[in-house]
Order: sequence, then structure tokens, then C-alpha cells
Amino acid sequence: MISKSLTDLINHRQRSLQQTRRIQRTIYEFVLRHSDNFNSPQFKSISNADLGLLFQITDEQVFDGLLGQLCEQSSRRPLAFRLSTRMTSCGGMTTMQRDNRPGALPEFEITIATSPLFDTFNVDSVAKVGGVTCHDRLQALQRIMEHEMLHLAELLLFSDSNCNGSQFKNYARRHFGHTESNHRLLTPRDVARKKLGISPGDTVVFDIGGRTVTGVINRITKRATVLVADAKGTKYSDGKRYSKFYVPLNMLRRK
Ligand SMILES: [Zn+2]
Repeated sequence: MISKSLTDLINHRQRSLQQTRRIQRTIYEFVLRHSDNFNSPQFKSISNADLGLLFQITDEQVFDGLLGQLCEQSSRRPLAFRLSTRMTSCGGMTTMQRDNRPGALPEFEITIATSPLFDTFNVDSVAKVGGVTCHDRLQALQRIMEHEMLHLAELLLFSDSNCNGSQFKNYARRHFGHTESNHRLLTPRDVARKKLGISPGDTVVFDIGGRTVTGVINRITKRATVLVADAKGTKYSDGKRYSKFYVPLNMLRRK
């Protein structure tokens, strides 16, 4: 049975950290050679097919291909991959969905967030993912995929997954040499602070409809939420009234 074989493998296979790093390097080189998009480790574009390729070779090298097989057996369809431009704080996400129809099979999907991956290496030359220092986008993507693959394995084997649990941490260290369950990739807020020198709470100016407006940054996601004092605006907890603007970060200047 596939699930029994995967359970045995995931619980018992021992490799030295050196062996693990060698396998990860092999996967890195394989993906660089075979992806249509990855001309360099600091690739400028990425597709779902690249995620599929990375998953498949990692599964073959680390789990003997059992993870993909178990996934197909459980949902009778291939694992789905998705790229998200909207996810900004997490690096990836793995989901199991099952609708209410009797006999409905679960569906699995791995989503990778593109902006932390791209933004981080526009600003910095290294970033830690899973406690491992990554020098380029491909290394960071590999660490994120490894993390998501363990979520998938736990979902398939135990119907539940938690990367803060001791079992997950044990698997992450054993199979991929991860020492942490988080990533230190940059969020839009970090990028705004590092590149533009602006942070929530700062007073900024921006141009709108031919006039220059002054406001205070309330929040930074893909855009900044800027509150501008306005007698006709909404009342906020400080008792004053403001209008809210969503402004692209590159349109803001510090006052
Ligand atoms: Zn996680």
C-alpha cells in the first residue's frame, strides 16, 4: 500500500545533512536545466509547470515518488499547482478540499506566493527560509516547496497538518534540513521600509487628480492605505474624520 510505504519512509529514512544538501543541489540543477522559465537561479518569471517540475523531481529524489502517487490515488486526479500574486506574508499554502457530495474525493492544491519570492531578491541578496540561508529565488522556492510537500504528506497520511507541531518539525529537519518552520522573505511592508523608507504611521504626500494630498499611512499591503483628514470622511477611533486612499507604493513621498 502506498500510504504504508510513505509512512514508513517519512518516519524512518535516515540521511546525513550532507546527503540531504547533495540531493537538494541535484534537484536545483535539474530544475535549472529543464524549466522553460528558469534561465538563471534569479529567474524573472515562473509558471505552474515549473512548480509541477520541482514537485515531481523532489518527490522522486526524497520520497521515491510516493507522495505524488498517494495524492493521485486519494483524489483520482493530479495535484494542482497555483501561483498567487495576492498572498504577501506566507510563502506558500497547501489545501485539502472536499465538497459535501457523498463519496466526493478530496482535492489537493499547492499555492506558491510570487511576490515574497520576487521582491526579496530585488532588495536583498540572501534570505532565510526554513532556517536555511538561501542565495537566490530558486533556493528559496525549493525550501518553500519542501515545506508545502510536508504539509501535503501530513494531510494525506493524517488528514491534518501543523508546521508548528513537533512531528512536522522532525520531518522538516530529517528530510530537508530545515531548522525553522517560517521564512524571512520580505513582505510589501518590509520592501516599502527598505526601498522607499516608508512605514505605517509615516506622513506622506501623493498626487491625485492634479492636487497634492497629505495623509498618514495606515497599512501596507500591495498598496498603501493612506488616511487623509477630511471633514466629510469616516470617523476613526482618534475622533477625527478621514478619507481612505489605496495608493501604489511608488506614488508616495515622505513628507
Ligand atoms: Zn506551514
